[in-house]
Amino acid sequence: MKEITPINYYKSRTFICKRCHETVTTIEGALDRRTQFCSDLCSRRYWRHPHQYKKVQ
Ligand SMILES: [Zn+2]
Repeated sequence: MKEITPINYYKSRTFICKRCHETVTTIEGALDRRTQFCSDLCSRRYWRHPHQYKKVQ
C-alpha cells in the first residue's frame, strides 16, 4: 500500500526550478506552494513548451 504524504507548504523546501534550473529555497513558516518552478512565469512558460525542457539536468 502506498502512503501519500501531503506536502506541508509551510516547511522550508529546496528544489530546482524545472525551467530555469535555479535552486529555490522556500522560507519556513511562510505559505509557499511552489514545488517545481521558481515563479509563476517559469511555470507558464514551461507548460507552453514542455518538450523543450525534457531531461535537462
Ligand atoms: Zn525558474
